Amino acid sequence: MTSHDVDPLVARMRPFGTTIFAEMSALALRTGAVNLGQGFPDTDGPPEMLAAATQALNTGHNQYPPGPGIPELRAAVAAHQRRFWGLEYDPDGEVVVTAGATEAVAAAILALCEPGDEVVCFEPYYDSYAASIALAGATRRPVTLRPGVDGRYAFDPDDLRNAFSARTRLVLLNSPHNPTGKVFTPDELTLVAELCQEHGAYAVTDEVYEHLAFTDATSGHVPLATLPGMRERTLRISSAGKTFSCTGWKVGWASGPAALVSALLRVKQFLTYVNAAPLQPAVAVALALPDDYFTAFRADLQVRRDQLIDGLTAAGFDVYTPEGTYFVTADITALGGTDGVGFCRTLPERSGVVAVPTQVFYDDPEAGRRLIRFAFCKRQEVLAEAVTRLRRLPEVR
Ligand SMILES: *Cc1c(COP(=O)(O)O)cnc(C)c1O
Repeated sequence: MTSHDVDPLVARMRPFGTTIFAEMSALALRTGAVNLGQGFPDTDGPPEMLAAATQALNTGHNQYPPGPGIPELRAAVAAHQRRFWGLEYDPDGEVVVTAGATEAVAAAILALCEPGDEVVCFEPYYDSYAASIALAGATRRPVTLRPGVDGRYAFDPDDLRNAFSARTRLVLLNSPHNPTGKVFTPDELTLVAELCQEHGAYAVTDEVYEHLAFTDATSGHVPLATLPGMRERTLRISSAGKTFSCTGWKVGWASGPAALVSALLRVKQFLTYVNAAPLQPAVAVALALPDDYFTAFRADLQVRRDQLIDGLTAAGFDVYTPEGTYFVTADITALGGTDGVGFCRTLPERSGVVAVPTQVFYDDPEAGRRLIRFAFCKRQEVLAEAVTRLRRLPEVR
């Protein structure tokens, strides 16, 4: 047997195929469908930020920046967290710039987890989490979020209690949550915080949608690090991509106590070392924009959310109103669907729209079998066209 006869990929990565986004985006291209699958905006971010990036490119900010990120950006990250959440971080030692939130999450897990350690996370989960946990040789302990009669996704507190064990190293929490749009309430966060402290676990929070908890959410966004006893055990992660409509820039950051940040940085320096030199000063400009920018950004997305919810409801879907993020989930049962993966594979042909099945974000495929996700971070005319197409769906099925 030669080495060509076997899959060269390490065993721990074999369960992870090509992401569903690649498959669905290829399908969108081939069929000319409106792509509400992947969550990227189709408009540019604030002009002040774009101008600052152009200026940085043209004025020599093109070589390796410092390992933890440029001082202006670290200061802006710290000031932004003080302004919006009352959290204090020292820009020198408690903030590190990363290649997007994705790298920050991966570096945090690789830095903190020994093989065999357990990571508590909520499913459905963002697709990179499972792969990062597997790369570290750790084990994920998922807690399932299910839509309740009130239309809100929630978890059973006993499921969360049972997910913790003597091997729990950290809990990975994403709020506002992709793909469900759930914003964790202070009561839910309190239970997470209590269990973390009881088990001596760290928390890693993915807060890339920190500015997208809508005004009618049960509660506003509350960073886990603001709860008693949590700042000292939490790595808080966010990124410019979603807040400033620049998902291709991949500028993220992590903040936390110096020991945790320095552990993350130790791994990060060998993953990418540094990234995005001319974009870092531009993101510093964006983070310092007046409150109006952030309020208008949220209001604008909320209008588009409502437009898509109305359209999906008119098309016959049972829609779960998201309290935050770029996404809305819908149940396909009323449209005769029994399996989201099959439904989404044929949806572009049947109606000219691409969505993604949320099943692929669960360890328990039954929990998400009939749920699909649409992105509403698109221009209103694009959403209108998608809705028009979807309303023809019952006739063609
Ligand atoms: C989009 C997204 C990310 C990725 O952020 P980057 O800054 O592009 O790496 C991470 N987590 C969640 C939940 C997301 O939706």
